[in-house]
Amino acid sequence: MPKKLGLDLDNTNWSVSEVQLVGDHTVGRLTKWLRALGLSVEEGDFSRAQDVPPGILFLTRKRALVSSPWVFFFPQDKVEEQIKYFFQQLPAFKRLRRPFSRCLRCNTLLEKKTKEEVFGQVPDYIYETHSVFYWCAKCQKIFWPGSHRKRMEACLRRWGLLP
Ligand SMILES: [Zn+2]
Repeated sequence: MPKKLGLDLDNTNWSVSEVQLVGDHTVGRLTKWLRALGLSVEEGDFSRAQDVPPGILFLTRKRALVSSPWVFFFPQDKVEEQIKYFFQQLPAFKRLRRPFSRCLRCNTLLEKKTKEEVFGQVPDYIYETHSVFYWCAKCQKIFWPGSHRKRMEACLRRWGLLP
């Protein structure tokens, strides 16, 4: 049984929505999956635990940094185990779930677009078969719910993270 994490949100003045998650390259896949659930995870890196400011929860697999409560260390290798571990340790973050509301690439909140708004900007067969589209203002890209998203949804359900 893994040791209880240092950060205990019930005993701090921080609410879960004020904490910014930051992940380094050692948790790149996890970052994408957390974004898929709608949690905001920025990319960043800290080489010393004392450099992580309060209010940032740094997600990493770098064992050397575990001395701070603002460092969340993942002993697991597999993303499935990492994401389950995260919500086991910090269940309050489940409140922030807004599945598929963020760009997986850059973390920006997606904007809903109507069919009319994307006219001429997506392939014909996509236009004909979809009624909902999303726009990432930073990547300047249009997304639509497709088979990739369905697969991710199925995974998240299997992991008990979506109803
Ligand atoms: Zn983006």
